[in-house]
Amino acid sequence: STAGTLLEVRGLCVNYGHIEAIRDISFGVEEGTIATLIGANGAGKTTTLKTISGLRKVRAGQILLDGKDITYLPPYERVLLGLSQSPEGRGCFPGMTVLENLDMGAFVRRDRKTAAYRSDLDRVFDLFPRLKERERQAAGSMSGGEQQMLAIGRALMAKPRLVLLDEPSMGLAPKLIQQIFSIITEINNQGTTVLLVEQNAAQALKRAHTAHVLETGEIVRSGTGAELAVDDSVKAAYLGGD
Ligand code: ATP
Repeated sequence: STAGTLLEVRGLCVNYGHIEAIRDISFGVEEGTIATLIGANGAGKTTTLKTISGLRKVRAGQILLDGKDITYLPPYERVLLGLSQSPEGRGCFPGMTVLENLDMGAFVRRDRKTAAYRSDLDRVFDLFPRLKERERQAAGSMSGGEQQMLAIGRALMAKPRLVLLDEPSMGLAPKLIQQIFSIITEINNQGTTVLLVEQNAAQALKRAHTAHVLETGEIVRSGTGAELAVDDSVKAAYLGGD
């Protein structure tokens, strides 16, 4: 298939009561690319992802996946259309094993326990060998970093065309941060489009083809990852220190 816009967000507005968390956000994600939204705490990054997944209601605007309007579809129907999200933090089922968690990620698929399912499980274990070693371990007993990997692996088990990653580097040691970002690039190289939300702007901009800066619910700057990485205002606000 020829590349085109896989996800399009048009004039999105989301409220929590009277608080406007997201105000008139528009952006597109091209098929085969990594796009990132960076911004400070409370800028609206998580809200944007949750709204795209269908976990938050829109007040105004549209969400299109491959040209199809999905604005009012329930979350599971979006998963069926190829959109799956890895939640922020430890979004795993703590009492279930690694394998059971991965199986939950595949719940919408009709081909469970087939060769296709097995090969996707192998793909996740290739990306995250640690998960293979711990497939019978309860998710809740794993480290934060391991649970983060499991959450990403679980999202991939839905065989998404577009995977939404919410702060995959959060709470990880520097060495693991490098590793998780290389894995994100690898996931993309294997053909999955990625929308990445990050506070680690330096790493996100390095990996992303396109990037948007969110400030108090609005996109204030857009460009390629490389452009924003050298933009003075982005550097001052998000790449300060080191
Ligand atoms: P963080 O990185 O801290 O998670 P974020 O950029 O993901 O920040 P959001 O979590 O999307 O930001 O929050 C955007 C705004 O909406 C914030 O002002 C937040 O306080 C508010 N908000 C988020 N969730 C709720 C909620 N359930 N009820 C009320 N306000 C909320």
